[in-house]
Amino acid sequence: MQNKEPKINPTSLNYDFHSHTHFSDGLLSPEELVSRAIDKSVVILAITDHDSVSGLKSAHDYCVNNELSLQLVNGIELSASSDFSDIHIVGLGIKTESNELKKLVKEQKSKRWERAEAINFKLKKVGVDNILELIKEEQVDVITRSHFAQKLIKQGYAKDNKQVFKRFLGRKGKAKVINNWESMENCIQVIHEAGGLAVLAHPTRYAISNRKLSYLIEEFKIAGGDGLEVSYPSLNADQGGWLEVQRVKNDLLASAGSDFHYPDLKWSDLGRFRPVKNDIPHVLDKLVLSL
Ligand code: AMP
Ligand code: MN
Ligand code: MN
Ligand code: MN
Repeated sequence: MQNKEPKINPTSLNYDFHSHTHFSDGLLSPEELVSRAIDKSVVILAITDHDSVSGLKSAHDYCVNNELSLQLVNGIELSASSDFSDIHIVGLGIKTESNELKKLVKEQKSKRWERAEAINFKLKKVGVDNILELIKEEQVDVITRSHFAQKLIKQGYAKDNKQVFKRFLGRKGKAKVINNWESMENCIQVIHEAGGLAVLAHPTRYAISNRKLSYLIEEFKIAGGDGLEVSYPSLNADQGGWLEVQRVKNDLLASAGSDFHYPDLKWSDLGRFRPVKNDIPHVLDKLVLSL
């Protein structure tokens, strides 16, 4: 039987399913992020902080108290390990009261603090002192490499993000630490347990070949993954086309988002990414929205 339910047209809506607040490595508070989304005419926004759901409640309260028309989707961006690379999995439409989710978030946060100590130790060995101490002077919920990056730049150890990741924090950096994230399979399971959809974030940003990436996407699907980000800033038309082929091959839903962190990065502003093709299976079809 044909499905007669009206389909939400992803090209006609200004949505963003990937964004950060200062509860992880974004600059804005949840309230500021919500205001900016409205300024940018975004009507559906998922806040997806790294391994944290701490910003969701105040964003919701702000919308309700000010009778804002923005529709919020509860989100998270989980760091996970796979056979091919460490990856990021966006969970959309999650229930924050899920005990499994709470447990995982707690574990990931403490792994992040352990890793931060290890990064700091390595930095000290190359003569860079005091960075973690400086970070701790501010209230940090989830510690990320971006926190180190910002302080290292401020202290004059590198001129920008690119250089700081190359010199210290990236794959070949002096303070590189091997991560011990939860497996892709477990992360997907926890997102499902919390009633959400699991989406593989920014697939072309993992430093692996297209061949390995196509295996990774296949494994993601086999592990129960639901969706694939097929549009985000910095993705060129060829890469977008290639991802769409992988999405179809693996029967995944399309998702898209800016991965917004800072207002001064104009190329990754809220809602700013190539529109997704009309009439393709989209996470919008599965999320419970009150439109
Ligand atoms: P973490 O999850 O702690 O490993 O930190 C990852 C975050 O650091 C990402 O979400 C980005 O915001 C940022 N990041 C990672 N790699 C780079 C890079 N090469 N250049 C700039 N920012 C990066
Ligand atoms: Mn980030
Ligand atoms: Mn990410
Ligand atoms: Mn992100």
